[in-house]
Amino acid sequence: MAADAPITQDLVTIPRKLPDGGKVNLVGLTRTAMRDALIAMGTPEKQAKMRVNQLWQWIYHWGVREFSAMTNLAKDYRAKLEEHFEITLPEIVSKNVSTDGTRKYLVRIAGGHEVEVVYIPETDRGTLCISSQVGCTLTCSFCHTGTQKLVRNLTAGEIVGQVMLARDDLDEWPAPGTGTGDKGPRLLSNIVLMGMGEPLYNFDNVRDAMKIVMDGEGIALSRRRITLSTSGVVPEIAKCAEEIGCLMAVSFHATTDEVRNKLVPINKRWNIEELLNALREYPRLSNSERITFEYVMLKDVNDTDADARRLVNLIKGIPAKINLIPFNEWPGAPYERSDWERIERFADIVHKAGYASPIRTPRGEDIMAACGQLKSATERARKSRAQIAAETGTA
Ligand code: SAH
Ligand code: SF4
Repeated sequence: MAADAPITQDLVTIPRKLPDGGKVNLVGLTRTAMRDALIAMGTPEKQAKMRVNQLWQWIYHWGVREFSAMTNLAKDYRAKLEEHFEITLPEIVSKNVSTDGTRKYLVRIAGGHEVEVVYIPETDRGTLCISSQVGCTLTCSFCHTGTQKLVRNLTAGEIVGQVMLARDDLDEWPAPGTGTGDKGPRLLSNIVLMGMGEPLYNFDNVRDAMKIVMDGEGIALSRRRITLSTSGVVPEIAKCAEEIGCLMAVSFHATTDEVRNKLVPINKRWNIEELLNALREYPRLSNSERITFEYVMLKDVNDTDADARRLVNLIKGIPAKINLIPFNEWPGAPYERSDWERIERFADIVHKAGYASPIRTPRGEDIMAACGQLKSATERARKSRAQIAAETGTA
């Protein structure tokens, strides 16, 4: 399927206003969209900007969900808001906590679909791994999500909603009237778009959601604390630099087109050279320091010394960090994790060439929360091992 994978996805996202005249969800609206919605409800144009500011602060700074609690708005205005709008988040269906503190949330979105969200606490930071799609249209042969048929793109509200849910669970909203830093260092300090889905195939919603997350009057996470990971949707990379400006990670995983075609089939559409050309431009366009190259270590597939040397040659001139990810197994996976000595040797070659080459410690493995293990329980239309092997030529 990958060779004819569509360049863009015309997936429908659910409408903001329900056809039966249901309420519009304010969560996920950009400032401009919220202003338009308030004016459409009868707010005088002159007041609209101020009302957006007030609502924005309640919703995104203090995490308030009830119009009735928004005490700086007149009572009748609150009642009017209540009539037309709602402030709703996806629902947490279950929460698993790993022995290492990692939390995995199963989250239900409209239509009954489910996505997974993972919170990873570390000593100096707390990272939330969020999803951008239900499933993924791409079929990377080592990825569990890739075996799940895509159901749909998430809306901007469902994407920012994952961040808000996690802040609820971490009890991290400042009390109304107080500032963000008042509770000390943030528990949720970083976001990675490395959950389910290809974020650059749902560009507009991801952009709108990240703009909300970065807005200084609300959740206020800096663009340097957000990392978007792509499998290599080349035409969208420059757009991401210009319109989001976050950090970029790329699922690189191979050093020849032959191997990358099998592991990351989107490579058949945009090969290594085209991908690297786009990445070379990224730091300048986004004014960010370096690109993260993700490299999953697969035994006897992409883990030789020659691979390590080819890798450093390929990325020459690109400010980069190489994240080596020990392969996380999932039932039916057609690969094995490289031996530890092999991973260390690979890391050493990359390191000696002058690049940071951390080996990512698998987190939350006991709850299937590690990279590439995400796949919601209700959507287990799993391909068989034989089917995957046939598609990837690893039989
Ligand atoms: N679709 C995007 C973002 C989600 S995947 C992308 O592909 O970049 C997040 C990261 O986990 C990617 O680097 C992906 O290649 C990696 N990954 C997927 N399956 C994995 C597995 N089984 N073990 C280790 N890493 C995996
Ligand atoms: Fe999709 Fe990323 Fe998994 Fe590839 S690695 S199938 S792009 S989620």
